[in-house]
Formats: sequence, C-alpha cells, structure tokens
Amino acid sequence: MSDCIFCKIVRGEIPCSKVYEDDKILAFDDINPMAPVHVVIIPKNHISTLMDVDTEKDDIMNNLIAAAQKVAQIKNIAVSGFRVAINCNAEGGQVVFHLHVHVLGGRKLQDELG
Ligand code: 5GP
Ligand code: ZN
Repeated sequence: MSDCIFCKIVRGEIPCSKVYEDDKILAFDDINPMAPVHVVIIPKNHISTLMDVDTEKDDIMNNLIAAAQKVAQIKNIAVSGFRVAINCNAEGGQVVFHLHVHVLGGRKLQDELG
C-alpha cells in the first residue's frame, strides 16, 4: 500500500535497522524501543491486521514465528527469554495497520500486557 509506513520500509523509502530478511519477511529494530531488544517483524506483503490473515490458505503466521525464532537467536535472547506480541485493532493498541509481530527482550519483562 502506497501510504503505509511499513510498506515504505519494505520498499526502502524509509530507512530501518534491519535485523533479518528473507523473501517473505522483514525484521527491524523498533524506532521507539520498549526494551533493550525490541524488533518488529512484518510480512513484505501488506496485510492490515491479524484478523485479515487467512490461516487456511496463507502460511504467513508460521513464517512470522519462524522469523521470531531467528531474531531471538540473532539478538541472543533465545535462552534468556523474550515476549512475542501482536496488537490487533484499536483496543489492542495497534497503531500501524500493517500486520507485525513485536519481539521484546533483554531485560526481565513485567506484567505489561495492559
Ligand atoms: P503497534 O502499536 O501498531 O503494535 O506497533 C507499531 C510499532 O511500530 C511501534 O512500536 C512503533 O514504535 C513502531 N514504528 C512506527 N513507525 C516506525 C518506523 O518508521 N520505523 C520503525 N523502525 N518503527 C516504527
Ligand atoms: Zn503495508
């Protein structure tokens, strides 16, 4: 989508600190980190929210989780631990309407689920 921030990052129109990339996925450091490690993982194709994923026909959620495992290894938090979060729609706290997975770690996370 032309005016989507994360699509602009995929196209290279907005710079990012890339952590991991493959043909379907891009992972980059969050611009406003909530923890020492805070990575955003996105599908390169635009999908607005978690509710727009067709899990019967699309394996993107599996790809996102596989990327989260890779990010945890790259950031050296796989053993110490981390949190994976997907915010969906307004009351879920979603601000950017391009599906993304947050990977948070690098410190002991408290009860921050809202
Ligand atoms: P949401 O609240 O939609 O789940 O999370 C969106 C996340 O994207 C936020 O944590 C925010 O800091 C991050 N973000 C928004 N714009 C940019 C950007 O231009 N670059 C990067 N790296 N992160 C962004
Ligand atoms: Zn997008």
